[in-house]
Amino acid sequence: MTIMLKLFNTLTRTLEEFKPLNDSKVGMYTCGPTVYWDAHIGNFRSFVLEDVLRRVLELKGFEVKRVMNITDVGHLTSDADEGEDKMLVAAKREGKTAWDIAQTYLDKFVSDTTKLNIVLPPKPLLCRATDHIAEQIDLVKILLDKDFAYQTSDGIYFDTSKFPNYGKLSGQKLAEKEEGARIDINPEKRNKTDFALWKFSNPVGARRAVPQPKRLMEWESPWGTGFPGWHVECSAMAHKYLGQPFDIHCGGVDHIAVHHENEIAQSEAAFGVKLADYWWHNEFLTVDGQKMSKSLGNFFTLADLADKGFEPLALRYFYLGAHYRQLQNFTLDALGAAQNALRKLHNLARDLVKTGTTLAEFESEFLSAVNDDLNMPKALAVVWKLMDSDATAGDKGATLLWMDQVLGLSLDKYVAHPVEIPDEIKVLAAERQEARDAKDWDQSDKLRLEIEKHGWTVEDGKAGQKLLHKD
Ligand code: AMP
Ligand code: ZN
Repeated sequence: MTIMLKLFNTLTRTLEEFKPLNDSKVGMYTCGPTVYWDAHIGNFRSFVLEDVLRRVLELKGFEVKRVMNITDVGHLTSDADEGEDKMLVAAKREGKTAWDIAQTYLDKFVSDTTKLNIVLPPKPLLCRATDHIAEQIDLVKILLDKDFAYQTSDGIYFDTSKFPNYGKLSGQKLAEKEEGARIDINPEKRNKTDFALWKFSNPVGARRAVPQPKRLMEWESPWGTGFPGWHVECSAMAHKYLGQPFDIHCGGVDHIAVHHENEIAQSEAAFGVKLADYWWHNEFLTVDGQKMSKSLGNFFTLADLADKGFEPLALRYFYLGAHYRQLQNFTLDALGAAQNALRKLHNLARDLVKTGTTLAEFESEFLSAVNDDLNMPKALAVVWKLMDSDATAGDKGATLLWMDQVLGLSLDKYVAHPVEIPDEIKVLAAERQEARDAKDWDQSDKLRLEIEKHGWTVEDGKAGQKLLHKD
């Protein structure tokens, strides 16, 4: 059995044994949501899998200090330092202030995460960018003092050519990155890959063809009124709450090439030490092979899925069905299959009891799946192997609940909570069996729908019909 947790480290591009800086504590930073709209279920793939990682570390006995930022500053819709302020767009769309937009979508995010059993860090570790403007200004000051930054007419920029390791996370040299960078509208930038640390609300000189609308969020700084560049908040807040270096930094793969590369550059240039030891990135949730994203409009929110009759934890079960480093394609059918599997698990759990002992054989098989770079599909297979085994109801119950510390499927609500099948459902099921015996499929389907209306589902197997409670 593998005892040690192995994780793929984007920084070294290898599978590495996870060794924290401190024997018993782990510092973990996860890039959080931008709260100008509902988070979609692509975003939640990242947040759920990061929650699984946290649970695994805690199961291993580490005390995890997790930090998540909330991006509530109105950044620009394009990476090329141009475009509209996302908060401003949302404020116009909804007739609210940018501050109201941020609060509304932060509240929705917290409520969605609760439904998905994601445990968010407590305040202040769940930290809003707008509550940390002073820390961001301090970081920019350090970078200017150390000559890693320079001022232009529209803001302060990080000089990527001064940071020798620029590109180490994505494995790209500065020249390659320059090739890939977009054409920029600021001719004063020294390198195309240089990025904004602080932007001025009113650029000096009229370089912009179109005057910028009045910003709804802006702050005083030693260099003029403006707002921080997007990447700065993560470096400033990670340093404040975790210090530097810390153990593990997480996010989706889209952040590797720009956002995380830039976080590393700023933090390491400012404080002279490594930002984080391990860089953990999860792959995208896709739709028809394309990344699920707000800009492509191919997204679902948790509320959309609830309208279609899906439970949030069915989505969590669905996510567990793919390895975090693999693309996962989303379809409603696949989510339906996950929901059925989860209901089946709930129903089996109802007949178990909690009084047994965890079974070492299943425990070690589950752990070796988890230790193998969080192989959750394999871990789920061990769950089903346990359910199919002839272990006692007590031992199964105890082992399942032990596994659920990592799965986070609220199985505690089901283990040892049997539900009696009501007489009216039994009668409907018997009638349906008669219809099936007579090959009257229309009648059988009608009775299935009737049974479903009462909160039950029927599964047809070799041994005949099986009634499952929907909850
Ligand atoms: P954002 O609010 O865009 O910064 O995204 C929040 C988190 O969701 C980041 O870690 C992103 O990398 C991640 N993310 C965005 N789209 C997807 C997707 N389609 N699949 C998985 N993760 C995503
Ligand atoms: Zn970040």
